[in-house]
Amino acid sequence: MPNDIIILGIFVADTSYRADRQPRMGETILGNKFTLGPGGKGSNQAVAAAKSGGNVGIITKLGKDAFADMALGIWSDAGVTSLATQHDESYTGAAYIFVEESTGNNAIIVAPGIAATISSDDVQKHTADIATAKVFVTQLEQPIDAAMTGLQLARAAGVKTILNPAPVAEISDKMLSLCDYVTPNETEAEGLTGITVSTPQDAERAAKAILSRGAGAAIITLGENGALYHDGIDTLHVPAITAGPVIETTGAGDAFNGGFATALSQGMPALSAVKFANAAAAISVTRPGTAPAMPDRAEIDALVK
Ligand code: ATP
Repeated sequence: MPNDIIILGIFVADTSYRADRQPRMGETILGNKFTLGPGGKGSNQAVAAAKSGGNVGIITKLGKDAFADMALGIWSDAGVTSLATQHDESYTGAAYIFVEESTGNNAIIVAPGIAATISSDDVQKHTADIATAKVFVTQLEQPIDAAMTGLQLARAAGVKTILNPAPVAEISDKMLSLCDYVTPNETEAEGLTGITVSTPQDAERAAKAILSRGAGAAIITLGENGALYHDGIDTLHVPAITAGPVIETTGAGDAFNGGFATALSQGMPALSAVKFANAAAAISVTRPGTAPAMPDRAEIDALVK
């Protein structure tokens, strides 16, 4: 059975350490807490899309190790089809996250492992998976050539394309022209346009600049200010929804992108899909963690109505 949504992206295991301060070079200190959780934007978005009711497959590369087992287990639990290949020449991606206890500030090292080798050829092997989908989604955590190939294959087959341009990277107008929807946050929108985005008005200017570079529509996520949609004709600012006390906003963008992909894949018009995504993300911020915080369909429907 083909998947309606194909996501190209990476999985990393987030290893998070809380301590009073960072150790100095050569020093060992005792920490206060350790947590291990699933991360990687592609994986988080796949889980978000599946939990919100989408039929999702993920294209990526894993090692043959405990973190790969973790990825496969999480996808299986969420109902994500793994289209991942496993390799023993390198390891599954992992991130070291240091959190300073007093401030909550963090310092992060991401080691993508085998996912750093995802190539155009790897993506081309999934041409049939991409061409039979309704929506294709990618980000910029794997090599940009692979993302470009995925977008080209999807566009050639008439599949709707979503680029979540994260983390900030140089993107060509050619790449943006292959995107039906580009979904940056404020920082990424500034990286794409040079326009500092802190209000919905700034976001509208940035969205217009993104369209002038070739994208079909831009959706700029604005954290606690919601999201701004612009497609050259319609402009919509959707305020954030308060679904409860905010516990953790990490992964909110992934909840948004996954929800948006599901809504589009089920034929919702783009403006309704933005509202659906905004509700999915609003619920995710009321829970700890990233993938485990993604809401299910009933929860989202209850908030949208
Ligand atoms: P991250 O990188 O942490 O995953 P992001 O920077 O990509 O997040 P944001 O723009 O911060 O993404 O948030 C994405 C979406 O999540 C927003 O468009 C909004 O729908 C929702 N959201 C974020 N913060 C809040 C909040 N405090 N209350 C309600 N909804 C929120």
